[in-house]
Amino acid sequence: MIIAILALQGAFAEHQQMLHKLGTDSVLIRNLPDWQDFIGRDEPKGLIIPGGESTAMKRIMRDENLVEPIRSAIAGGLPTFGTCAGMILLSKKIEGSDAESFLGDAAMDVVVRRNAYGRQLGSFYTEDSFGDDSSAEEKVPMTFIRAPFIVEVGDSVKVLAKVDGNIVAVRQGNLLATSFHPELNDDVRVHKFFLSMI
Ligand code: GLN
Repeated sequence: MIIAILALQGAFAEHQQMLHKLGTDSVLIRNLPDWQDFIGRDEPKGLIIPGGESTAMKRIMRDENLVEPIRSAIAGGLPTFGTCAGMILLSKKIEGSDAESFLGDAAMDVVVRRNAYGRQLGSFYTEDSFGDDSSAEEKVPMTFIRAPFIVEVGDSVKVLAKVDGNIVAVRQGNLLATSFHPELNDDVRVHKFFLSMI
């Protein structure tokens, strides 16, 4: 198994360390040749889109001609995990914005609110339940940094975690997204959950 980590901007190194801890190989994607090497590998694959700044990440993806290749891989079923800014990129709609998701129909059927906890004081730590029917719900550490949360979900979206009533983790088919940053704590369970989707 090999996991690609989009490494254009933001907290990608921490995801790589997490996967290393789990004994899973990963490659950093900085440009189109990196992506083509990854796609050419003959083994089960997944993609992580890290936290950072979603607008900057989108811009660099466009500059590096990565938008269409990544879109088509995700639309083709590539298991993909987005944290924080990555959650925003995987969402069909950003509240209050007319911008279309780069994923088109392959996006998660959710509406996301950017900087939902405020821009400056929006960073905090908590522990809360995470999981679905197949994984008993357990409390996991959750670090939020100017995080989004989900304000609407479609019928085929499974809510995996809520904090204070707000949706902070969702899964739909091959897509998993968390508002928080599981890569910033030692607990490996959210990454394990993602690997179990591959
Ligand atoms: N506030 C960022 C955005 O809107 C996300 C923050 C994060 O990824 N830690 O893109």
